[in-house]
Amino acid sequence: ITFPYNEDLMHKTIMVGDSGVGKTSLLVQYDQGKFIPGSFSATVGIGFTNKVLTVDNAKVKLQIWDTAGQERFRSVTHAYYRDAQALLLLYDITSKSSFDNIRAWLTEIHEYAQKDVVIMLLGNKTDMAGERVIKHEEGEKLAKEYGVPFMETSAKTGVNVELAFLAVAKELKHRA
Ligand code: GDP
Ligand code: MG
Repeated sequence: ITFPYNEDLMHKTIMVGDSGVGKTSLLVQYDQGKFIPGSFSATVGIGFTNKVLTVDNAKVKLQIWDTAGQERFRSVTHAYYRDAQALLLLYDITSKSSFDNIRAWLTEIHEYAQKDVVIMLLGNKTDMAGERVIKHEEGEKLAKEYGVPFMETSAKTGVNVELAFLAVAKELKHRA
């Protein structure tokens, strides 16, 4: 017997990655279709936002949480990951350290998150081509190593932002 996908399910989704990679900006771009230049307060963030997407004619509900402040303390641990069904893990293509830290984030995720959590790796700030230090292929290679999907995004121009969340929703629906 196969049960139909439960459209009432709310999938807790969280934005993770180093401070400054663009987590808040990406969520604001997705939610409001705009880019607000300048840093959001590292400790305030925007809390969470609810979105309803359509996958194969079914509604998929995401409750997307912005990580704020915890990055610095690496205290985004068990309690925070516990009920997450999906994670958008970001680095900044102009920041080598944010890319190098992805391994540490994945280690933490594998330690604390649910085993079947949906992970999407995102290289953000593609509009800053002149300052790029991480090649697209490097992101792709890392993603392949960990068996997670990968995309490059720009919270500024909106490139791939909707696609990234849609990919997460598709994966959640197909796994259900
Ligand atoms: P967070 O700490 O991960 O939430 O990062 P923020 O969303 O606060 O962004 C950090 C800084 O990077 C801010 O100055 C943003 O305006 C900038 N930023 C974020 N995403 C992009 C992007 O895609 N392109 C450009 N050019 N700047 C971005
Ligand atoms: Mg933020």
